[in-house]
Amino acid sequence: MPVIEEKPQDEKLFRIRHSLAHVMAQAVQTLYPGTKLGFGPAIDDGFYYDFILPKTLSDTELPAIEAKMRDIIAAAQTFSHEDLPLDAALTRIEGQMGEPFKAAYARELADKKGHREISFYTNGGFVDMCEGPHVSSTSDIPADAFKLHALAGAYWRGDERNAMMTRIYGYAFNTKAELDEYVAAVEQAKQRDHRKLGQELRIYAIRDEIGKGLPLWLPNGAAIRHELEKLAHEMEFRAGYKKVATPHITKRGLYETSGHIPLYEDGMYPPMVLEEEGRGAGGPEESYYLKPMNCPHHHMVFASEKHSYRDLPLRYTEYGSVYRFERAGALQGLTRVRGMAMNDAHIYVTPEQLKEEFQAVMKLHERYYALFGLTNYFMRLSLWDPADPKRGAKYVDDPENWALSERLVTEALEEMGANYKLSPGEAAFYGPKVDFQFITVTGREFTLSTNQLDFAVPARFGLAYTDKDGKEKTPYCIHRAPMGTHERFIAFLIEHFGGAFPTWLAPVQVVVIPVSDKFLAYGKKIEALLREDLVRVELDTSSATMGKKIQEGATRKVPILLVVGGKEETEQTVTVRRYGIKEQKAMPLAGFVEMLSQEIKERRHV
Ligand code: ATP
Ligand code: ZN
Ligand code: ZN
Repeated sequence: MPVIEEKPQDEKLFRIRHSLAHVMAQAVQTLYPGTKLGFGPAIDDGFYYDFILPKTLSDTELPAIEAKMRDIIAAAQTFSHEDLPLDAALTRIEGQMGEPFKAAYARELADKKGHREISFYTNGGFVDMCEGPHVSSTSDIPADAFKLHALAGAYWRGDERNAMMTRIYGYAFNTKAELDEYVAAVEQAKQRDHRKLGQELRIYAIRDEIGKGLPLWLPNGAAIRHELEKLAHEMEFRAGYKKVATPHITKRGLYETSGHIPLYEDGMYPPMVLEEEGRGAGGPEESYYLKPMNCPHHHMVFASEKHSYRDLPLRYTEYGSVYRFERAGALQGLTRVRGMAMNDAHIYVTPEQLKEEFQAVMKLHERYYALFGLTNYFMRLSLWDPADPKRGAKYVDDPENWALSERLVTEALEEMGANYKLSPGEAAFYGPKVDFQFITVTGREFTLSTNQLDFAVPARFGLAYTDKDGKEKTPYCIHRAPMGTHERFIAFLIEHFGGAFPTWLAPVQVVVIPVSDKFLAYGKKIEALLREDLVRVELDTSSATMGKKIQEGATRKVPILLVVGGKEETEQTVTVRRYGIKEQKAMPLAGFVEMLSQEIKERRHV
């Protein structure tokens, strides 16, 4: 049964956080007279405020600001509210308060939103232009449940043409225990941050010479990609998908048909303008775009052959490379990049097949996640909103198809006994979708992948199959990408496993450590044997001590270290040390090779 998704809103905590922003501004202006104020909202884990300060601030000054804030809290100042007509408000903001940014914002509220009055809140001697709400007295703020934790630069209104301000961030919670727990979780998240581990474990690099958001996969990262592609190949081959391959660049017209141009043009790299008779030869001009999605190409694959209802469902899959011109400010490690490879597929079905196939796709998603040991997720069904006044611009206006496809998708979920939430108004413009929402090890929720039903776009491309009655009909299309992109998925896996991958996924699966040079030959024999079995194995030939070598293996989070010396060579055994396990175990070499190959083949998590 679905649950209507509601954003948990802790009204009291929101007031505390928002009030703390005021108190911080008040403290900063007391400590650094002449400070000008920008915005100071409550956010997910606390609050921030943007300032233009008369001096450069450093982290070491945050405790003094906190102490001043505690004084204000202890003074039990009440918040009082007042609305002033625009003119009087501007006189106050520009005169008594002397706040140019607030004045600009007040004018904007008047000009763009028609505000005739401006709302103010005062506590102690501090006045801020603000809509509220706040706590009634500063003494309602738990003084031990907040903490200032970061300084950052931020442009006024987020626009780099504007002044650069100093943003101070604070965490704030209802109790000290909640704050401590949160701070500990943040600390853990920092340790697992894929940007940190990605560098330490030499998984990827982003270089200026190449460009923002365009990761290079180092050998370790490429090994993980290879394993994911191999997995996808097996899963999809067994589920009856067919591989296709499509180019990275494409003529403008295709995106006009798909509707990406003009709707999505901002999200695409600008076009390359080519002249067909040779560059610059004055031939007919044609503009080419890097593809931002694979769907139009798969539609063209469909259009390139004749299809009867007997060929359906037809499932095209491709680890498709796509490029999206994400805003520079939104880029983040591997989580949001500009060049990426997607575990994509498009499935063409008749209306009769839709429900069963949609269900099969959901089950495939579940199989994928089970394999990685991922259980902390739920599904979210996004529907259209027929009551939305802008529905004509947001959705394909076809109530009949919306009703049918939403009914089928809902039935598919109900029959599976799925636990899902409903999210009205969040559908794609061409149909309902089911998002897979994951809760990360550090408690964040995020969308890993989406399963979408599309009842509209195939018609735009004129796609058709011949039905039983001999008539040409338009198929429905399912878009799915259970592992999303390599980039976001690997970022997630790095953090999920804290860099300690299960053997099948680990960039280096085994390191062989001879106890001294005397046993190099035996080590080499083991290396060759494992490599023949396609195991990613390394032989440590360095002159470091054995203890150092074992240490190094642990730092690299290699799942299996094999220590070999005289006893092992004579008995043809190996001493196995697994990552994170103290005890080591001696095994016959042949038995170890057999065990390892089973573990990898079954993708077992030991
Ligand atoms: P978002 O809302 O995060 O921008 P989207 O809704 O545009 O994503 P889709 O077009 O559905 O995403 O792409 C499918 C999947 O590709 C997403 O679920 C996500 O896992 C991944 N993805 C999308 N954009 C990026 C990106 N810029 N960098 C890395 N992965 C991405
Ligand atoms: Zn306020
Ligand atoms: Zn698609």
